[in-house]
Amino acid sequence: MTTTGLVQGASVVAAVLFILSLAGLSRQETARRGVNLGMAGMVLALGATVALALVRSERPVGVTAALILFVLVVGATVGTWRARSVEMTQMPELIALLHSFVGLAAVLVGYGSFLTAFPLGEGAAGGHAGAAGSDTVHAIEIYLGVLIGAVTFTGSLVAFGKLSGRLRSAPVTLPARNWLNLAVVVGCAALLAWYMIAVGPAGGAAAVVPLLLMTVLALALGWHLVAAIGGGDMPVVVSMLNSYSGWAAAAAGFMLGNDLLIITGALVGSSGAILSYIMCRAMNRSFVSVILGGFGTAPGGAAADGPAGTHRETTADAVAAQLVGARSVIIAPGYGMAVAKAQYPVADLAAKLAERGVRVRFAIHPVAGRLPGHMNVLLAEAKVPYDIVEGMDEINADFDETDVVLVIGANDTVNPAAQEDPGSPIAGMPVLEVWHARDVVVFKRSMATGYAGVQNPLFFKDNTEMLFGDAKDRVEEIVKSL
Ligand code: NDP
Repeated sequence: MTTTGLVQGASVVAAVLFILSLAGLSRQETARRGVNLGMAGMVLALGATVALALVRSERPVGVTAALILFVLVVGATVGTWRARSVEMTQMPELIALLHSFVGLAAVLVGYGSFLTAFPLGEGAAGGHAGAAGSDTVHAIEIYLGVLIGAVTFTGSLVAFGKLSGRLRSAPVTLPARNWLNLAVVVGCAALLAWYMIAVGPAGGAAAVVPLLLMTVLALALGWHLVAAIGGGDMPVVVSMLNSYSGWAAAAAGFMLGNDLLIITGALVGSSGAILSYIMCRAMNRSFVSVILGGFGTAPGGAAADGPAGTHRETTADAVAAQLVGARSVIIAPGYGMAVAKAQYPVADLAAKLAERGVRVRFAIHPVAGRLPGHMNVLLAEAKVPYDIVEGMDEINADFDETDVVLVIGANDTVNPAAQEDPGSPIAGMPVLEVWHARDVVVFKRSMATGYAGVQNPLFFKDNTEMLFGDAKDRVEEIVKSL
């Protein structure tokens, strides 16, 4: 078998491993296997790509191998360092930053392919304009690749800024923003027509102008689409950008003639789109309005300085006594549990209560934390049995039969304003209806708002008590008191 044949075979196996990996990742019990299959696929894919590059190399093979080795060492060193040093709470911003790299790579590959296929130096003046045959397809691939890559690049950078707190998470609402978006899309279509007329075998000197203009427009569009999204709706944007980065990778695959990159990009693109759809349904948002980057921007409502009231405080000892007397307890964790790394004492607390015959379950909101599945990952890490971890839809009807709910570092995901205040930025988002329980204890450090920046009327309800302090410290105190 030739090297190319072997590479093609390896590519097919890698693609199958990626599909099996995605299937594994869809369930908590099989997620670890899914990750291992994905890693195996990636090693195979990398090997196949390197082998292909060496076979196709126009330079001496040694030089190509040295170049590849150099970038592999740089990439692996940076990747290992980041993966080891990143805190679990910084994962979403790291992922957003990685998405921006994929976008940037697609833009660079696009310009590289353009300059190779349509060199600037040969000038357009003498030759006939317009690309023909396979050139036309390649020219369109380049245009679309740069377009998707540029939108992904700036969109992901804004998402990175918002998730890491470097940028305000409140939406930027420019006047007539939907018309602005439409104007940019129409502008890109008009520039495509100019580009296709200008590009041709004679060279790319004339076509580079519309390509550059479109790149500037696409960069602005990516920035604007994500800047217009309100804080509480960011989860959908993150998965949407995940999808865009997949399509950007697939576009790069077309430009480079790399089948494996096309397959991998399409898998990431479509699974990201499916995830976005699921997240949209979970948050009661329309898929189309996410793509248009305009939801979550309702004016007014319960903002940070919105409805206040009087709250009651409690102590760890009092909560321990409450729990001992309870028959059923539900724990609703949120981003604060991740910040405090409280999952281990929380798992301990759940086990201790179960030993005493209390029915303990966990209620997981689909966007709790800062990553899809964030809470599930933390609880799995702390070895909480899967069968007591329930999703919002499964558990929401059970709160009114529950004695005590422990809200551990959750805020937006348990905010009744989503149902009670139509003007709230989180209006319409389904939430965990913890307030139906007999008693609610909220673990947090202050009366500060959650990620969406809206006040939470739950804190002022008659059956709610606040247990202030770091969630890990407070839960450890309760465990000791038991
Ligand atoms: P929130 O982000 O709404 O609130 C977290 C709360 O935790 C804060 O109010 C904070 O209050 C408290 N907290 C922080 N640190 C600690 C600590 N050490 N100990 C105790 N409490 C602490 O959390 P939710 O999980 O309820 O909601 C997630 C939000 O993030 C939603 O708005 C969601 O849309 C958004 N989001 C989700 C993503 C996802 O994919 N899951 C991605 C991007 C955004 P205090 O400071 O007073 O302690």
